[in-house]
Amino acid sequence: MLPGYMKAIEGAGGIPIMLPLTNDEPVLEQLVHACDGLLFTGGHDINPRLYGQSRSGKCGTIIEERDEMETKLFTFSCRENKPMLGICRGIQLFNVMLGGTLYQDVPTERPSPLTHVQKPPYDIPVHEVHIEEGSLLGKIVGESIISVNSYHHQAIKELAPHCHATAWASDGLIEAIEHPDYHYLLAVQWHPEFMHINDHISQKLFNSFIEAAYMQKQGLPFD
Ligand code: MN
Repeated sequence: MLPGYMKAIEGAGGIPIMLPLTNDEPVLEQLVHACDGLLFTGGHDINPRLYGQSRSGKCGTIIEERDEMETKLFTFSCRENKPMLGICRGIQLFNVMLGGTLYQDVPTERPSPLTHVQKPPYDIPVHEVHIEEGSLLGKIVGESIISVNSYHHQAIKELAPHCHATAWASDGLIEAIEHPDYHYLLAVQWHPEFMHINDHISQKLFNSFIEAAYMQKQGLPFD
């Protein structure tokens, strides 16, 4: 676990807890129940089997144990309607779990003049995203165009049913999704955890997630 995720949650006034790698369902159910919100972080490529496809030669390393753990966590979190924030692999996981598909290798399947896999340092923006006005993300960010970093091998191909895309890169790639049926289900393809120290918009994403978790815990409305 890179420290940026934890620091950004702390910066928002939350208490971050890193979960143990386990597939024990009663344990995962208890962990979801004990937490006020769940952040699904970046990581390895998701097994294409989870969206009904076979693995292409360009698909990256798969961590079966993590795929299984996170699909269970997502299912339990949805059942409890816990606030959920997805980052990078997180947006891909949400889309797959909700019925969408992914590009297994963006550079070959969807060539673009934009850089989606930047070189370090990762706190430097490399492309813009256009944000849907009136969306949850739009309300959080308060801007229609922002500059973001980009470090993702895969990306959303077919958007899951009932999901809303709420940010796009200028090449049309989906960079954020939300789901109106859940209390707070928001995910972004970029990495605000690398930028939150110097970029207040990145920190705002974590602030809104922690606020949603707090408001839900208190039984108060969030918008
Ligand atoms: Mn990107």
